[in-house]
This record gives sequence, structure tokens and C-alpha cells, in this order.
Amino acid sequence: MKSTVRNIRHLSLADIEAYIESIGEKKFRAKQVYEWLWLKPVRSFDEMTNISKELRLQLGQQFSLPSLRVDHTQHSQDGTFKLRFKTHDGHFAEGVLIPTVSGRYTACVSSQIGCSLSCRFCATGYMERKRNLDFDEIYDEVALLNQLCEKEYGKKLSNIVYMGMGEPLLNYKNVLKSIERITAEDGLAMSPKRITVSTAGVAKMIRQLGDDKVKFKLALSLHAANDQKRHEIMPINDTNNIKSLIEALNYFYHQTKNEITFEYILFRDLNDSLKDADELIRIYRQVPADLVNLIEYNPIDAARFEKPDEDKVEAFMFYLSKHGVNARLRRSRGKDIDAACGQLANKDN
Ligand code: SF4
Repeated sequence: MKSTVRNIRHLSLADIEAYIESIGEKKFRAKQVYEWLWLKPVRSFDEMTNISKELRLQLGQQFSLPSLRVDHTQHSQDGTFKLRFKTHDGHFAEGVLIPTVSGRYTACVSSQIGCSLSCRFCATGYMERKRNLDFDEIYDEVALLNQLCEKEYGKKLSNIVYMGMGEPLLNYKNVLKSIERITAEDGLAMSPKRITVSTAGVAKMIRQLGDDKVKFKLALSLHAANDQKRHEIMPINDTNNIKSLIEALNYFYHQTKNEITFEYILFRDLNDSLKDADELIRIYRQVPADLVNLIEYNPIDAARFEKPDEDKVEAFMFYLSKHGVNARLRRSRGKDIDAACGQLANKDN
């Protein structure tokens, strides 16, 4: 039987105020409770120390307060941390903290437990999708990574990328609501301009982002610049081909004027030739994208792909730059702890 106890973090401040008044408490108590839920955030009603014991007891009887807990922490030689989070119902998701020499501290967070899109190069794609993460669970990932960042580096997170486990646009409402809470003054107060949502390419939902006039940035995991090659590595391309994605990205830009980035993992002998670069340039010119992130491939046990030789990577980069593409090579971080792009799969190492 489904529990009738509601998660208190799914209530707005106004909802909590209405409840607090309905039990004869002063309205300002609601604000105090709300701050414990989102600013601290606490893991149990008992931790709300400026609230009376009776009220804490009543809240505990009326509501649940499920939250993510850190189940396992790994630290890479390059400073990257990978956290494995355990949900209240026993599932696992992973988040990564990536410090850079330029002083950026980026959190990479998951949006689903597992993934249904089965991209061939991605460890998560070989896991079954169990469920979506709730918005408060995604918020917890960011809050916990922020706490770690403050403890280890004495700094707050500077950037957040939705590039961990799962396809964010297939968990649309929770992803948007999590960003609303992360950017709220009574949340983590982060600028939406420092948040990037990365999608494998769900054209309909990219258009929806445009209609919703979101303020964060969007990244498309392109990874191959023609339909035949993209189909080989990303089955989602069968229903969301490159033409439909180009149209959706143009619509998104028209509606929001927000930055669009292409992500492109280089795979040996698959998409690393200058002919591939030419096809990529053609797509880049049809979309108001301002950056192509070339990503070093990180081998995973389940797949047969390899990364190209260094001179091939450099030639690809040089060719893009020569043709006016703003391209950047993103070296992998946290490879030794399977925290790099495409490697998240709840492994312990
Ligand atoms: S790359 Fe992203 S969308 Fe594709 S299988 Fe992995 S987690 Fe899912």
C-alpha cells in the first residue's frame, strides 16, 4: 500500500504556513522549518533545534523527510571526488566534484537512477533505469557536493552540470524544479548562468525548455555528425535525428538566447577523421552554438571503443579552429576512480 505520509520538502512555504497555522502554531515557525529543509539542509526533524520538541514530534508524525546520504566517497589523484549517494528506498546514484586549476569547482550530478537511453559508450547506459530522482534528491546531491567543496577547498561550488547518470530531459519536471530550488535565495542562491543541462537529444523537450524560457545553459551530446554514425552509438538518434535536433536547438535559442554547447567525444576510427570534422562544422554553422567541447574518451569494461592517438586529436582540434569553430579539448578527470565522463555506474573500485 502506498504511504500517505507526504514528503515535507514537496510542500511550498505557503503550504507549510497553512499547515502550521492549522495546528495553532505561529506562522513564522513555517519559515524556520523551511530554512532547515533547504538552507542547512537537515536529515531529520530532530535536528531543527530552534523548533519546540512538540512541533518537531508533530511534524514527524505528519510528514516524512527522506534525503540522500553519502554512502561511499572516492578521491582521485587529480583532486576529483566521486560520491555515491544512497536514496531512502535503497537505490544508488553518483555525483562528482571537479576542481580545476583555474579555480572552478564543478559539481556533476545525476538526474535518474540508471538510464533508458543505452548510449553504447556509456557505463550508465548498460544499467537498467530504475526511477527518476526527485527534485529534492537532485538538490541534495548539489548541497552535499557543495559541503564537500567547502570542507576540502574552502570554496563554494562555482558551476553545476547535469551530466551524471540519466537523461535530464526525461525527468523534466524534477530537473527544472531542482534548478528552481538551487537558484532560489532560500535555496543555494546559485546563478542559473552557472548551470548547464546536458541532453543526449530529446528534440521535443529541448523545444519545451524554450517555451519555458529557462535561464540555464544547454549542452547537446552530439558525439557523431551524421545520422548513420550517431545511430551506431546513440539509439535515441532513431527517433531524434540530427535535423530535428538542429531545428529544436534553433527554437531553444530563439526563445531564450541562452548559450548552447556541443559535446563531442572522440572515438578512434569512428568519428575522428577530418571528414567527420567537416560534418561537425556544417552542423555548428546551422546552430547558434558558441562552443564545441571535444572530450577525451574514457574506456569502460562493457564497450569496445578506444580513444584516438594524440596527433589525431590535435589535427581534429586544429581543423575546427582553422574553420572558425570555438573548440576546446576537455581532458578527462577522475579516470582512476571511474568518475570521468561516461564512467558512472555505481562501482566501488
Ligand atoms: S550518455 Fe547520458 S543519456 Fe546516454 S546512456 Fe549515458 S547517462 Fe544515459
